[in-house]
Amino acid sequence: MITFLNLYKINQPFETAFHEKMKQFFEAGWYVLGKEVSAFEAGFASYCGAKYCIGVGNGLDALVLIFKGYIELGKLQKGDEVLVPANTYIASILAVLQADLVPVLIEPKLETYTIDPHAIEAKITTKTKAILPVHLYGQLCEMTTINEIAKRHHLLIIEDAAQAHGATRNNTKAGSFGNAAGFSFYPGKNLGALGDAGAITTNDAALAEVLFSLRNYGSKVKYENERLGVNSRLDELQAAFLNLKLPHLEAENEFRRRLAKRYLLEINNEKIILPQWDGTDNHVFHLFVVRTQNRLALQDYLKNQGIETMIHYPIPPHKQKALFNWNNLSFPITAKIHDEVLSIPLNSSLTNDEIDQIIQKLNQY
Ligand SMILES: *Cc1c(COP(=O)(O)O)cnc(C)c1O
Repeated sequence: MITFLNLYKINQPFETAFHEKMKQFFEAGWYVLGKEVSAFEAGFASYCGAKYCIGVGNGLDALVLIFKGYIELGKLQKGDEVLVPANTYIASILAVLQADLVPVLIEPKLETYTIDPHAIEAKITTKTKAILPVHLYGQLCEMTTINEIAKRHHLLIIEDAAQAHGATRNNTKAGSFGNAAGFSFYPGKNLGALGDAGAITTNDAALAEVLFSLRNYGSKVKYENERLGVNSRLDELQAAFLNLKLPHLEAENEFRRRLAKRYLLEINNEKIILPQWDGTDNHVFHLFVVRTQNRLALQDYLKNQGIETMIHYPIPPHKQKALFNWNNLSFPITAKIHDEVLSIPLNSSLTNDEIDQIIQKLNQY
């Protein structure tokens, strides 16, 4: 069976180094907000080309804290509208809601699955204060156009970069295109920890100062609380592991791009619509997502051929029970995407033999 993602295989190369780090960590006797978190924050800020990185508990908290930070700074107010793609993973939308802001859903482009800049302008009102572009499946949104729209309408840009670590356009990396960005290091992401972990990047010194405090009980000096903060610190042990993996992220992304190029070149089946990509480093292929009319038939067929696939995602956020107020809204492109997408295995633990098999079976369908 070719599994969709074998996390043990992905992490195995770091096993010995991790055991050594684990021993040092254990013996150091300092388990929260220590040297490993600081080192990772410095390393990841530098990697993304951002001035500041604030390590937090997970990707959802990263986004929530950015919004709460801007509320603390008076740049956002409760009830302000935030434009967010309708086909995103629900975390993007929950982050807006948890900060008492109002998500306004925007259709994506069918070809790239990323937010459609033209659809953005139509939804801007006097209440709109921010855009949350999601670099879905690892591909950068059209940031030049989006930045231009944001500038014209005085909107903040907060990137959801949870699937796009390292995606680059014109020497700018995901996490440096807007005012701030949220990252997740959930184990299955391109840069994944051994549990939950997240981070925020920003060039905004005032925001960074607020966030270092908000993530740690609203406190800079121990037992002095200047803000109503939360406990969402990047775990020291996860940071230690991420410090081992960060230097290998570029190679990981390069492997994924090479594999995606093979898929795009060699999968040739008119029943299967391949994702659109310009072949540059603007995509890190967190997922390789194809579309097909009857995706359950394709999924079944591949399963019988020993190939595991996944669906990202089967139900759009506005059709979820949790968001019942939105269940009657209509987003035809989003609906079509959610009906037709299927994710094919793409990761650095696949062997050439397995890749050949995946391509062959898809072409024989
Ligand atoms: C993974 C993910 C998140 C949330 O990250 P967690 O670490 O699981 O909280 C947010 N947005 C997107 C697009 C994601 O893929």
